[in-house]
Amino acid sequence: MKIGPIEIRWHRRREATPSPAATLAAVPTSAPATTPAPPVPGQLHFTCNVCGTPVLATRETLGRETPNCSGCGSTLRFRSIIALLGQALGRGDTPLPAWPADQRIAGLGLSDWPGYASRLAMVCDYVNTHFHAHPRLDICAPPREWWGRFDFLLSSDVFEHVLPPVEAAFAGSYRLLKPGGVLVLTVPCIPEARTREHYPDAVGYRVETDGRVLLRRADGTEYPAAEPVFHGGPGATLEMRLFGAFDLQAGLEAAGFEAVRFHPEPYLAAGVVHEGPFSLPLTARKPLDAAAQASR
Ligand SMILES: [Zn+2]
Repeated sequence: MKIGPIEIRWHRRREATPSPAATLAAVPTSAPATTPAPPVPGQLHFTCNVCGTPVLATRETLGRETPNCSGCGSTLRFRSIIALLGQALGRGDTPLPAWPADQRIAGLGLSDWPGYASRLAMVCDYVNTHFHAHPRLDICAPPREWWGRFDFLLSSDVFEHVLPPVEAAFAGSYRLLKPGGVLVLTVPCIPEARTREHYPDAVGYRVETDGRVLLRRADGTEYPAAEPVFHGGPGATLEMRLFGAFDLQAGLEAAGFEAVRFHPEPYLAAGVVHEGPFSLPLTARKPLDAAAQASR
C-alpha cells in the first residue's frame, strides 16, 4: 500500500529553516504590498483552487469537511479533488477559474458539489449527474451510449452509499472512461485491508417514518439496520460500507484500472493538508490499451 504517515509542517518559529509551507505563507495573498506579511504560527495562506479566493486558514479549520474558503465555501476534500484533476489534465496548480476552456475534454460527475461542478462546466464538456434527479445516472449500470466517452470521472463520497456489490460501481466507472481516462475518487476509507460491508445481502432499503431503516433481501424479506449511519442527514444517503484501503485498491484494479494510487501528499498551494491516512483522495486510470477491452 502507498499509504503512510505524512509530515505536516506548520510554522512554529520564524527563525526555523524555511519549509515549503513557510515559503507559501510568506506570499502576500491580498492587495499588492511592499512588505509580505510574516508567517504566523499555526496559520496557512493558500489560494482556493475552486474559486481563486485567497484564504487564511488555521490548523483547526483545515478539516476534511470544514468549509474554509470565504469565496465558495470549499472544503479540503473538494480542493483535493480539483488539485488532482488539475494535475491529471495538465493544469498544475492553476485555480479552476483560470483553466483554459477546452470543450474537447469530456468529464462526468456523480452528484458533484455545485461549487466546482458549475465552474467545470465552463472550462470543459462536463456534466454533473445524479441518482435521483436529471440528468440521472446509476453508476452501477451506466447507459451503453456513454461507455468510453469521458476523459475524467469525479466521484466524491458516493461509493460508500451504493448498494452491494460495490464492484458494479467500479465496473461502471471503468466503462464510462475513455482509454487513458482518469477516475478521481474519495470515500470514507480506513488504512486497513478489508472493507466492512454493513449489509452485504441488501438489494434495497427503506426508511420508516419513525427513523428505522429496513434492508431488503433479494427474496423480499426485510431486516432492520442495527445502527444505521447516514451522511448528510436522514434520507437516501445510508452508509452501506466503510472502505478498507486494500480492498478499495484491489477492487479498482480488478475492474481494470491501473495506476491506482492514494494521495497522502499535501497541496499547500490549495490548502490541502490531510490529517492522517484516512479517507485520502485516490486516482486511477483506465489503461490506454483498454480499447481492445471495450466490451468489458
Ligand atoms: Zn473558494
